[in-house]
Amino acid sequence: MKNTARIITQASPLNSDQAQQLDKLTRTLTPLQSMWVSGYLAGQQSFQAEEKTAPSLQLAASSPSTLTILFGSQTGNAEAVAQQVLAAARDHGIQATLLDMAAYKPRDLKKEQALLLVVSTQGEGDPPDSAQELHAFLHGNKAPQLDGLRYSVLALGDSSYEYFCKTGKDFDQRLSELGAERVHERVDCDLDYDDAAEQWIGAAIKLFEQSPETADGKQLQSGSTAAPAAVGPTRKNPYQARLLTNIVLNGRGSSKEVHHIELDTEDSGLVWEPGDSLGVVPSNPLAVVDELIETLALDPNETVSVTDTELSLREALTHHYEITTLTRPVVEKYAALAESKRLHELLSEAQRTAFSGYVQDRQLLDLIEDHPLKGLDGSRLIALLRKLPPRLYSIASSHQANPDEVHLTVAAVRYKSHGRQRQGVASIFLAEGGGDKGTVPVYVDRNKHFRLPADDVPIIMIGPGTGVAPFRAFMEEREVLGASGANWLFFGAQHFLSDFYYQTDWLRWRASGLLTRLDVAFSRDQAEKIYVQDRLREQARELYAWLQEGAQIYVCGDAQHMAPDVHAALTDIIADQGGLAPEAATAYLNQLQKDQRYHRDVY
Ligand code: NDP
Repeated sequence: MKNTARIITQASPLNSDQAQQLDKLTRTLTPLQSMWVSGYLAGQQSFQAEEKTAPSLQLAASSPSTLTILFGSQTGNAEAVAQQVLAAARDHGIQATLLDMAAYKPRDLKKEQALLLVVSTQGEGDPPDSAQELHAFLHGNKAPQLDGLRYSVLALGDSSYEYFCKTGKDFDQRLSELGAERVHERVDCDLDYDDAAEQWIGAAIKLFEQSPETADGKQLQSGSTAAPAAVGPTRKNPYQARLLTNIVLNGRGSSKEVHHIELDTEDSGLVWEPGDSLGVVPSNPLAVVDELIETLALDPNETVSVTDTELSLREALTHHYEITTLTRPVVEKYAALAESKRLHELLSEAQRTAFSGYVQDRQLLDLIEDHPLKGLDGSRLIALLRKLPPRLYSIASSHQANPDEVHLTVAAVRYKSHGRQRQGVASIFLAEGGGDKGTVPVYVDRNKHFRLPADDVPIIMIGPGTGVAPFRAFMEEREVLGASGANWLFFGAQHFLSDFYYQTDWLRWRASGLLTRLDVAFSRDQAEKIYVQDRLREQARELYAWLQEGAQIYVCGDAQHMAPDVHAALTDIIADQGGLAPEAATAYLNQLQKDQRYHRDVY
C-alpha cells in the first residue's frame, strides 16, 4: 500500500499532488465506498458530457459523507439510545458510524457534515468521563469553525438535579456558536427517557435521510462499532428474580444499614461481567401511595390509563409513577394547577437556591400539603408525575463464580425530614424483601468503562462504603480465572467492628495471596478522621511504582466528595513521586484515563 501514490502517478495523467490526494482518500475507503466513488466519478463524467454548459450540481461539490452518531455515556443509557439511533439509521438506509466520544478524535469534528449526539449529564452538571475531552475541546480556544455541519443533540439527565441535562445543553449551544446548523431542536430527557428519545430519533433520522449528503449513502450499508443488540431481560422487560438472601452487614452500634442481597438468576438469561450494574425496577411503598390518595381525597379504584393499559389509580401509583422525589418539571406542572403565588415565586429564576432547598428533603405529599389543590382526579395527578425510574446497583458477585445468583450491596436509605419518616424507594424495596411474591424485577446494565484488564495486569481498587461492591465481583472473577495480576484494595468505612463489609472474603483472599495488599481507613475509630485518600498518600511510593508497572486504578462510590478527593490525592502522589509539576501530574492522570487505566464508577 505504501507505494500506491507512486503507482497512481506512473499509471495515470494525475500530477503528484493530485495523486497524493487520491491516495490519501483511497486509503480511508471501505470496499463499498470505493465502489460508490468509482460509480460517482463515472456518473459525473457522463453528466458533464451531456450538460457541458450547465453549472455544476451542488452534489458534485460535496463528498458523500456519512452520519456520525456520537455518544457520551456513564451508566450506559446514552450508549443504548445511540445504538437505537444507529438501528434507525440502518432502517432508513443511511450510512452511519456509531462512536463513543472517548474514542473520537475531537479534531475530526470539522470533517463531519451530519452529526447526531447523545450525551448524559452527571451529578452537578458534569459531562460523563468519556465526554470530558470533547467537551473541553469544544469549549477551548482550539475549537474549529463548524460551518457545514448539520446536527442535533439528545440530552439525557435527571430532573431532580439542578443542572438538568447541562452537558447536552452545552454541546448544543457550543456547536451552534461554532457555526453548525441545528437541524432539529435538542430534546432533554428525564430518567423516563424512552418515549422522548424515540420521538427524537424518528424525527432527526428523517432529516438526515432527506439531506443530500446522506441520501447518497442509501445504497451503502451502515458502518458501525456497535455491539450486538442486547439479549435477555431488559429495562422494559425485566426478569422477576427471587430474593434468596437478605443479610444486614453492619454490626451492633453502626449508624449504617447495608444489606447483602442475593437474587436467584437461574434460567433468567441474565449475563454480566464484573463492573456491570443491576437495574432494579422498584415499587413505591403502599403506605406512601395510600397517604397520597387519601390526602387528595381520590378514589384508589379510579381507572387510569398507563401506556395503553387501564389500571386502578392505586396500582398505577404503586408500580409506574415516581411519588417521592420532587423535580422542577413536577413542581412547575403542579404550580400551573394550584395557582399559588408563593409557589410561582419559588419557581422564579431569582429563587433557584431556595427552590433547590425546598425540594431537597421534601416529597410530593409535602408539596400538596403546603399548596393544597382541589378537584384533582387520578388522571390529572398522574399527568403531573414522571415514570418511576429503575435504580442501578453495582453487582457484587462474578457470573463466572456464581452463574445462578447475583449479589448486591445496598445501603438502606431511611431518614426523617419535616416531621415525616422518609425512605429510599429502591433500597427499601430490596431491604424489605422485594415485591409481593418476594421477587425483584431486574436487568443488567452494562458498564464497559469499568472492566477488569487482562489477567496479568495489576489493579488498584479504591472503594469506601458500598463502593466496595464491584471489587468483590472483581476478586471472585480473578479467583475463578486463576488470574496472575496483583490486586490492591483500599477500603474505608466508619468503624472496623461494625462496618467492615465482606471482611471474611477480604481476609480469605489476603491469606490465599489473591489479594496482594489491603489498606483500610476506618474514619471514626480515632479522634482524627482517616479516609482512603489518606491511606493512598501513606502508600505513595509503592502506589506510584505499581502505576509505573502498568497497574490500572478503579474508584467506586460517592461522586460528590470521595471521588474528587481521591483524584486530588492521586494527582499529588504522581507529582511528588514522579517529580512532576502539578500540570504534568494532571496530564499523567488524564492520560491514564484516556488509556483506560483509570476507571471511575461514581454517583
Ligand atoms: P459511607 O457513608 O459508609 O462512607 C464510607 C466511608 O467513606 C466512611 O468512612 C466515610 O467517613 C468516608 N468518607 C466520607 N467522606 C469522604 C471523602 N470525602 N473521601 C473519602 N472517604 C469519605 O458510604 P456509603 O456506602 O453509604 O456511600 C456513600 C455515597 O456513595 C452514597 O451517597 C452513594 O450514593 C454513593 N455510592 C455510589 C456507588 C456507585 O457509584 N456505584 C456505590 C456506593 C455508594 P465518615 O462517614 O466518617 O465521614
